[in-house]
Amino acid sequence: MSPHIEAGEVVHKALKYAMDIIHPGMPVIELCQRVEERIIAQGARPAFPVNVGINEVAAHYTATRGDKLVIPNNAVVKIDAGAHKDGYIVDAAVTVSLGTNAYDGIVKAAREALRAAYESLRPGVKAWQIGEVIESRIKSFGYRPIYNLTGHRIEQYNLHAGDVVPNYGDRTASQALRPGDVYAIEPFATNGKGYVKDLNKITIYRLIRTKLKGKQEYLDNIYRVARTLPFSPRWFPEIPEEFFAEAASRGALYGYEVLVEEAGGVVAQFEDTFVIEEDGARPLANTLELAQ
Ligand code: MN
Ligand code: MN
Repeated sequence: MSPHIEAGEVVHKALKYAMDIIHPGMPVIELCQRVEERIIAQGARPAFPVNVGINEVAAHYTATRGDKLVIPNNAVVKIDAGAHKDGYIVDAAVTVSLGTNAYDGIVKAAREALRAAYESLRPGVKAWQIGEVIESRIKSFGYRPIYNLTGHRIEQYNLHAGDVVPNYGDRTASQALRPGDVYAIEPFATNGKGYVKDLNKITIYRLIRTKLKGKQEYLDNIYRVARTLPFSPRWFPEIPEEFFAEAASRGALYGYEVLVEEAGGVVAQFEDTFVIEEDGARPLANTLELAQ
């Protein structure tokens, strides 16, 4: 089996496990750690820290060291997990709603948008056309896509390889899909404005320079574990907390801001990673088969 297909099975099982164990009152740090451990136990590496986005938090939140945040009741929770084998990355996400059916529509809108996008994948299709399919499917349920979040092409050890797949018909995403391309596609649906903004809080970093005077040992540790893929400070208990912000300000690390819906709207997300094939596409994590 190819490493990419193996990584897809790892992510499928990790997301299924997350859906089984998540419950109101569960510490978010426990959810993140247990899902990351499940990825490692299957012989893969996390491609990034498990992201847990509650209600209006759209992306880039992972538990901090000693995090006190707990999964609430009557909430929508997005679980976004990634694994890689030898750098072949699979990035996928599901949304669950807990203790209420008030959000069933918004969850369904995001899921059906991913399904419609999948069905439209084939060589020659332009990325903006996928975005148009996503937008119209989400709107058919009465919600908005998040206009300033996108899917992305993936390369070995490179989670965001330049080309994007927008969540609306953005003509600037003009590239055509080619056989062998790998794309993560991630529709986000919201009852808010349809835009995310920075929360001015960083929980995830990525190494962007391999040299840092006086702190080389820390950077070497990070490179050994995460290469240039996103990581959580939780993974490096030996590194003092102040290091991360300092290294970011010195240009050695990139910090991902937590992203929240501008109007405080609830956000749902589904994501899978697809390999473009001659007659369509192959979903690697089979996210659409993970029913709540
Ligand atoms: Mn993702
Ligand atoms: Mn992604």
